[in-house]
Amino acid sequence: MTSPCPHDRETAPPTAAQVERALDAAAASVAAAGDRLTRPRRRVLELLHVAGAPAKAYDLVATYHREARVATPATVYRALQFLETRGLVHRLSSLKAYVACDPKRLGSPAVFLLCDCCGFCREVPAPDLAALNAAATAAGYEIERITLEGQGLCSACRPPRPGAARDPVLQTEPEAAAGSGPASIEPRP
Ligand SMILES: [Zn+2]
Ligand SMILES: [Zn+2]
Repeated sequence: MTSPCPHDRETAPPTAAQVERALDAAAASVAAAGDRLTRPRRRVLELLHVAGAPAKAYDLVATYHREARVATPATVYRALQFLETRGLVHRLSSLKAYVACDPKRLGSPAVFLLCDCCGFCREVPAPDLAALNAAATAAGYEIERITLEGQGLCSACRPPRPGAARDPVLQTEPEAAAGSGPASIEPRP
């Protein structure tokens, strides 16, 4: 992925073994649901895992073709649709792009932190969505998938704070300690 962002973010691409493990886990979860991770589905998922970042469907069509096999846009779109309904990929509406689900979070609601500057994308654990699920149940609705997107600036692209350590990635976020989160709630005597 090319980006005009001048900020330095070190991202290690996934190893071939990690991608292979993710694909095998995906195949197992699809098989458990009585379906198959066909070659196009597996290939599209592989491309997304290798990219390690959100990718647009037409980029996937282009990359798919570079290999020995060819795919029509329809094949790629159908594969994406299947993978999305199985929770193996997530569609990020704000970017009109797809990203592979973190294998550790398969089946969980997805929350993504997106950087407006460098395009960095990280999947993080979802907050407690019990209230949302209760509201859905009360409305007679069954939620099948949830994808939340938080947009802002990543630690590499944020302007440095005065007196902050050089490597913001390794720093504890000051907001987490000082904010109105559960950490600051004191038990009342
Ligand atoms: Zn960034
Ligand atoms: Zn940046």
